[in-house]
Amino acid sequence: MKNIDGKQISNLIKDELKNEVKKLSQEGISITLAVIQVGEDPASTVYVSNKKKACEYIGIISKSYELPSNTSQTELLDLIKTLNLDKKINGILVQLPLPKHINEDEVIRAIEPKKDVDGFHPENVGLLSIGQKGFVSCTPAGVIQLLKRSNIEIEGKECVVIGRSNIVGKPMSMLMLRENATVTVCHSRTKNLKEVTKRADILIVALGIPKFITSEYIKEDAVIIDVGIHRGEDNKLCGDVNYDDVINKVSAITPVPGGVGPMTIAMLMNNCIESNAIQK
Ligand code: NAD
Repeated sequence: MKNIDGKQISNLIKDELKNEVKKLSQEGISITLAVIQVGEDPASTVYVSNKKKACEYIGIISKSYELPSNTSQTELLDLIKTLNLDKKINGILVQLPLPKHINEDEVIRAIEPKKDVDGFHPENVGLLSIGQKGFVSCTPAGVIQLLKRSNIEIEGKECVVIGRSNIVGKPMSMLMLRENATVTVCHSRTKNLKEVTKRADILIVALGIPKFITSEYIKEDAVIIDVGIHRGEDNKLCGDVNYDDVINKVSAITPVPGGVGPMTIAMLMNNCIESNAIQK
């Protein structure tokens, strides 16, 4: 195995979740996700539509709230309050980024933590850091599934995460720690990045620069997880890793597209279903 097939693994997970939803419906339980989009950012519209399609496939009810770009913060917070109290709503997702006049942190904090299926609320972030049950950010949770379902051992391995964002790098490092890896986190101020990344048995790259990581950064037979996603000048998608340059040196790698990307929505669907147990 060289390529870790995120598309295949995510399809498998979605089919498992579809079965779970079927079982729940036999017990008279339905799962509903509220999806809020403010404005008409084209990329957000594509993400929202993909999330709704995944809900439909799995059997999760999705309720759309498409608000105009001039929606005030108070109006958005009022909608979230209403959805927090609505017993029929299991998950609340606010598509980011929000228009500049709205404070994203305040919006995230307003979501009831037990409905925060994106796992961005400080309470869920805190639960992750103390190893207790809560919602976990979808992209890093997807990476763990990719590794486990590809039978890549994590325990005791040297793992280097490049990037310390709240959405990817930080939760990623907490999850690898939870899986008993020895974790190092690198960021834009890290000195001698190459020296650190060359130690990695598992290198997780989430730095947001196209094709930044070349073979000089990696050790022979390393496992490379490329979280980055960019549209290149040739209009093709690429990651933060220079795939062609590293492919002969790695033991396994997630391609872009078809690696980490498809896992994010699968894990969002997983969180929606978990919300039923979390809300009990
Ligand atoms: P971000 O810009 O918030 O964070 C980037 C991180 O990389 C920062 O912590 C920064 O310190 C670090 N960094 C930047 N330059 C560096 C350098 N030269 N050396 C070392 N570290 C450096 O980005 P993010 O939101 O974490 O996303 C990272 C990448 O993952 C982006 O390409 C993004 O598009 C992608 N992404 C993909 C998915 C998915 O579903 N596949 C989800 C979220 C993000």
